[in-house]
Amino acid sequence: MKKPEPCPECHGKGWLEAARGGEDEAKLCGLCNGSGSTPTGRTCGGCGGTGRIEVRTGERQKCLKCMGTGRFPLSEDL
Ligand SMILES: [Zn+2]
Ligand SMILES: [Zn+2]
Repeated sequence: MKKPEPCPECHGKGWLEAARGGEDEAKLCGLCNGSGSTPTGRTCGGCGGTGRIEVRTGERQKCLKCMGTGRFPLSEDL
């Protein structure tokens, strides 16, 4: 069993500081790389199967790598 480690993207915080204010963007989902499904064929939990995530360029945004949990990799068996 692999232990989830602190997310390297957000350093375990679960969120990132948005770089700048601006328009909201739809980003390619980092979990499924835009395919909308996991390698095991399940609907991607990160984007709900759309392959894209709307990113709000506010003060803080949820870390897309760990989906706000602060840990990576995510457990597949939730
Ligand atoms: Zn996805
Ligand atoms: Zn993270």
